[in-house]
Amino acid sequence: EPLIGVLALQGDVREHLAALSGAGARAEPVRRPEELAEVDGLVLPGGESTTMSKLAAVFGLLEPLRARVAAGMPAYGSCAGMIMLADKILDPRSGQETVGGIDMIVRRNAFGRQNESFEAPLDLADVDGEPVRGVFIRAPWVESTGARVRVLARYEGHPVAVRQDRLLATSFHPELTGDHRVHALFASMVRAAG
Ligand code: GLN
Repeated sequence: EPLIGVLALQGDVREHLAALSGAGARAEPVRRPEELAEVDGLVLPGGESTTMSKLAAVFGLLEPLRARVAAGMPAYGSCAGMIMLADKILDPRSGQETVGGIDMIVRRNAFGRQNESFEAPLDLADVDGEPVRGVFIRAPWVESTGARVRVLARYEGHPVAVRQDRLLATSFHPELTGDHRVHALFASMVRAAG
């Protein structure tokens, strides 16, 4: 069984570890480059992407993360993690570093003040059965995508779940719902890559 890391610099690390275990995967937190080197796939959690990327740089993880993603390591980002996996961020205070990998532009905090946090049922391609409960918390949306990016779900017309090869990202937080189907999908992507 492959080992899946959860980037444990900031954010809802524990919830992702629990969701991965619930989906039957082996999971460990990743804080150091040596720990990153040992995992077969990586989850980038929800949280605050500016803090996460600063800490990744401070801990010497930004370049190793970029290198592993470029070398084909499967990765899944939820919310702030989605932002971390975006090649480009649309933000007035740009200059924020990302790991990148997914050919997309994301807009941070896109749903606006009136709608900072909300829930919506989502039909998610690649996940069978009833709709997924989409929990959005100061969530980004995907502004535009390149040709290799497949949109798995939309909310009010905006892509909120995408996949490019071995990379998966959602604007919402399945780790907070007790429904482990998205983590099971990612675990199957990690197995398929191994
Ligand atoms: N607004 C956060 C950011 O821009 C993401 C919020 C979240 O992960 N729930 O990084």
